Amino acid sequence: MLLWCAPLILIFAVADGLTPGTRVALTFAVRVAWAGTVVAVALWLPRATPLLQERLVLAVGLSTPVFFGLLVHLTGGTHSPLFHFMLAMPLVVAVVLQDHPIATLGAAVGMVLAGVAVQVASGREARTLVEWLVLATCMAALAVYASVIYRRLRNREALLYRQHVASLERERDYQVAVEARDHFLSVASHELRTPLTALKLQAQHARRTVTPGSVPEKAERALNAVLRQAERLQSLMDRLLDLSVITAGRMVLDPVDADLSVLVQETVTRLREEHGDDVDIQVHSPGPVLGRWDAVALQQVVQNLLGNAVKYGDGKPVVVRVVEVGEQVHVEVEDHGIGISAQDLPRIFQRFERAASARNYGGLGLGLWLSRQIVRQMGGDITVESAVGSGSTFTVVVPRRLGAREVPERSVKPEVPLH
Ligand code: ADP
Repeated sequence: MLLWCAPLILIFAVADGLTPGTRVALTFAVRVAWAGTVVAVALWLPRATPLLQERLVLAVGLSTPVFFGLLVHLTGGTHSPLFHFMLAMPLVVAVVLQDHPIATLGAAVGMVLAGVAVQVASGREARTLVEWLVLATCMAALAVYASVIYRRLRNREALLYRQHVASLERERDYQVAVEARDHFLSVASHELRTPLTALKLQAQHARRTVTPGSVPEKAERALNAVLRQAERLQSLMDRLLDLSVITAGRMVLDPVDADLSVLVQETVTRLREEHGDDVDIQVHSPGPVLGRWDAVALQQVVQNLLGNAVKYGDGKPVVVRVVEVGEQVHVEVEDHGIGISAQDLPRIFQRFERAASARNYGGLGLGLWLSRQIVRQMGGDITVESAVGSGSTFTVVVPRRLGAREVPERSVKPEVPLH
């Protein structure tokens, strides 16, 4: 912008020619010197150090009203048509050199000094001079104030921009880290699954060959414990695999005609077999509830919720209800256990988020997340009502008929920061 001022300074030489009594050659020489100074500074500025830049702009600010004052003097002093424009010099400098309040300050000082010099040379009386000084000081202060405010706004804008860029970078790093974690989990769970399945099969085989009294009781107990732990490990591995399948957007639903009451009953039976007589699960259903669902996925969801109800249920009875509501069906899982506090409720459906103490209750914090992803994929949702100490009720709502649909690629966004 500074460079554009040079031709403007020269073009207005035409106006000098129109002012009677002006020595045009002399005023033109002043304009050339002024424009030359401006061009030199404009070319030098980009290469100068910050300190030199400040000095250069101060020089431009100071010299501008001085050159202008000379023009005023040569074109008639206080009678010159240019005289009143002197007051605007600091504002002009503030507009041209927006990022440099120091230049505006220089122009303000230069304008007051040059104005006084012009008026003294023109023989103005003291009273008029004082009046002009008051006016000039106000104009100068206004220009400096505007310049400082502008600079502050620019600084704040630059700060916000830097913060924005930094947060974008942080978000990118976070995405990369989350993807690395998911990849690792997917590979690790896949690789660990093969030896684990072999281990479980061997343990099952050994268990079958053991007849009462054929091995010491201690060995039989140890074998049972190996089998239980292998099963537990496998279910944890399955969860990690499910996680990688869903986050990669590879979950495919396979709808079949089924009776929801039967699906729930089967899940409950399986859970009773796993936990023995320790669990008290009551099932309420209105009889056959026919529809079209991905039976395996839906059973996995009910199993997750029932497993949690037993785990966090304080040994109290768990109730499962199957309810038909128009074109939707609900599966409610109610327990009377430890419950969940209001501030924990929003986060328990996120990946790896847990509300119960890790010392008392094991777990990965994936079951609810997986369940909700599956149910949402079916076009439904899971809600929860809970109170600490009184228990929780999780409700699965799904449409009665499901059309096959695939999760779009990378549809699941990371929801929680890495721990
Ligand atoms: P996990 O049980 O492996 O920790 P989930 O995703 O299944 O993972 O559950 C997340 C958290 O929600 C649990 O850690 C627990 O704090 C809370 N939660 C889930 N179900 C219940 C329940 N029925 N009663 C109390 N808390 C529960």
